Amino acid sequence: MSDRLPGFSTLAVHAGAQPDPTTGARATPIYQTTSFVFNDADHAASLFGLQAFGNIYTRIGNPTNAVLEERVAALEGGTAALAVASGHAAQVVVLQQLLQPGDEFIAARKLYGGSINQFTHAFKSFGWNVVWADPDDITSFERAVTPRTKAIFIESIANPGGSITDIEAISTVARKAGVPLIVDNTLASPYLIRPIDHGADIVVHSLTKFLGGHGNSLGGIIVDAGTFDWSTGGKYPMLSEPRPEYHGIRLQETFGNFAFAIACRVLGLRDLGPALSPFNAFMILTGIETLPLRMQKHCDNAKAIAEFLSGHPAVASVSYAGLPGDKYSQLARKYAPRGAGAVFTFSLKGGYDAGVSLVSKLQLFSHLANVGDTRSLVIHPASTTHSQLDDAAKIRSGAGPDVVRLSIGIEDKEDLIADLEQALSA
Ligand SMILES: *Cc1c(COP(=O)(O)O)cnc(C)c1O
Repeated sequence: MSDRLPGFSTLAVHAGAQPDPTTGARATPIYQTTSFVFNDADHAASLFGLQAFGNIYTRIGNPTNAVLEERVAALEGGTAALAVASGHAAQVVVLQQLLQPGDEFIAARKLYGGSINQFTHAFKSFGWNVVWADPDDITSFERAVTPRTKAIFIESIANPGGSITDIEAISTVARKAGVPLIVDNTLASPYLIRPIDHGADIVVHSLTKFLGGHGNSLGGIIVDAGTFDWSTGGKYPMLSEPRPEYHGIRLQETFGNFAFAIACRVLGLRDLGPALSPFNAFMILTGIETLPLRMQKHCDNAKAIAEFLSGHPAVASVSYAGLPGDKYSQLARKYAPRGAGAVFTFSLKGGYDAGVSLVSKLQLFSHLANVGDTRSLVIHPASTTHSQLDDAAKIRSGAGPDVVRLSIGIEDKEDLIADLEQALSA
């Protein structure tokens, strides 16, 4: 073996995996089992007491899922990861380790519509209070910090308009406030942006999107950067204080720079229960093997389509950070030099009615609520994903009535352009 560090594409295929020691199977097997036999009573006791690592029960961990965890941790440059059932489950598990009832977290206003709902309603019922800030105005994050702030949450490439967030500037605010920065890296994937390189402490993903990549399996993942000191100021008792569930051990003291991933597993996943099925882990692992190839094609197609749309007479504006004149093009060159992602919005001169009509006339694009599929997708956010927001909030989050969102797939770009052309001229 040479002492060269493997590159991104090599990690995407190999990280975390090896031929199965029992059978020689080269693809990662699907360990479709709920439970694992203990060697003896002492072994069982040490697994339960966190004195030894090993498999107990698939709600807490599974060997197929472990390969996925190691692979995504390697691609993101983290110390450890925890796979869960969905992107939303990842968000709940992360914040449960950080917030007590009555605490606050600051979130960028430009987010996936489902996250806006989750933060506003479900998390409020847990006593976790979201405070919104504007990702285009870094001082709004500074102003939102209070003694009860426990975390800052942003998207690297933000829904729905594909805007690029200045991760380094917001990480400086987080560091000053003494709270971790959580970055939802779903729309970028680590192929385009690695938030930990820019100061993120925790990365979350909906694996359902570009990482799985084929629109066939839900999943989520939490990556621990290993950068945050959880012991300062007693702000994070789940990590710094003795845990009665585990004979009084302190997670940070015992597990060091992967204590957060351990807390998410042994306190979050164990007790809340959103485990990822090993079958879905297998599907997502297979998807990740082609992530670099797919992501480049997604981005190249998206750029061609954004250029086509910006020259079309029925189109009022295109919001794609990969276009030279775009408001976010400078941030895109800094954070995502390989491409500005494949999810973006444009607005039609004909407003709401034109948006609804366009969606119904497209044939190759599928009208549905997802992104990051091999297939090209379209949705009209104002009448669907963002319909629960009032008009002002829709516009603030980039989902005004005239806006159409595209997620560009890996088909031939000429066919996608032809489909848009016929639907726009109809
Ligand atoms: C889809 C999505 C989520 C939620 O993920 P699920 O797997 O659907 O639970 C969170 N954030 C972003 C940016 C998403 O696109």
